Amino acid sequence: MSSTDTLATATAVEHDQICKMADAVVVPPAPEKNRRDELFARAKQLLKEKNAVLVAHYYTDADLQRLADETGGYVSDSLDMARFGHEHPASTLVVAGVRFMGETAKILNPEKRILMPTLEAECSLDLSCPIEAFSEFCDAHPDRTVVVYANTSAAVKARADWVVTSSIATEVIAHLHAQGKSIIWAPDKYLGNYVQTVTGADMLMWQGSCVVHERFKAHALASLKQKHPEAAVLVHPESPADVVELADVVGSTTALIKAAQQMDNPAFIVATDNGIFYKMQQAAPDKTFYEAPNAGIGANCESCAHCPWMAINTLENLISTLETGDNEVHVDPETGKQAMVALQRMLDFSAATRNKPVKN
Ligand code: SF4
Repeated sequence: MSSTDTLATATAVEHDQICKMADAVVVPPAPEKNRRDELFARAKQLLKEKNAVLVAHYYTDADLQRLADETGGYVSDSLDMARFGHEHPASTLVVAGVRFMGETAKILNPEKRILMPTLEAECSLDLSCPIEAFSEFCDAHPDRTVVVYANTSAAVKARADWVVTSSIATEVIAHLHAQGKSIIWAPDKYLGNYVQTVTGADMLMWQGSCVVHERFKAHALASLKQKHPEAAVLVHPESPADVVELADVVGSTTALIKAAQQMDNPAFIVATDNGIFYKMQQAAPDKTFYEAPNAGIGANCESCAHCPWMAINTLENLISTLETGDNEVHVDPETGKQAMVALQRMLDFSAATRNKPVKN
């Protein structure tokens, strides 16, 4: 067995443990309406008092997204969250999302205070790619350009040549492929396979996956599509290849929201975390959205595509963080500097290409 095989196997074994960790996350119940209104008002007041701005991911709770919208913050995918936090003048950024997003904000803004509602919010992709094993993998293939997805630790980003998000992965890999480069890709094997299919690049894949997207089921999706022939199918490329094959549009969260707004279909079946429905409904209020079928937790769950770690970001723990200053994100300065090199490549590339039309 080669060292590459060994590492791929080790990652696959860990994946079972990561799934168990995800299934064991205890998501607090949503508060009653009156209590929610109180919490919302308190969080709004605290953001102002502390001169803090809230940056929330599309997969977080709708209350947090609304709070960001109503307080001058921002709701987006991880690339635009990073951009916004970098450009905004506030001295404190509160990042509602998962840990790598807080770390990315800190890397881009070492002088700012970065708080998170919880530091317990993991990501299965990040967990699947520990720095020691990943470094060994890279060392075994020194002639390859190392491209990592944003869903990785600061240390893994520091080991990479490029960081990419799903909104820009295909373009970056196509660019490197055109230069004749061969690639190490980590950690999401499904996104990697999708990008490889589109670009034809030579990519050696890490074997990580997202515990939410990998659970979408092609067979059940095809049945749902038969029931709703008017609906277009929107799929995030972290999903398995047979699900991607059924898509009318494959793209990042931002690209899927744009598609829902711009396509003529009156309805959409959406294969990504259902937190995205808050922004999709806002972008296309007259359209109907169905969740793509997902095996979920428990046999009777047909559509519970929601990241448990995103779900533990709440108004309560956001308030607690703002009151106490706890849950500050720290990144070792040297690691941060090194990771910034790979992140800056993505930001520069994105700035140079952002006006080009989004490819479906
Ligand atoms: S939805 Fe998947 S990729 Fe996104 S944070 Fe959760 S585990 Fe990670």
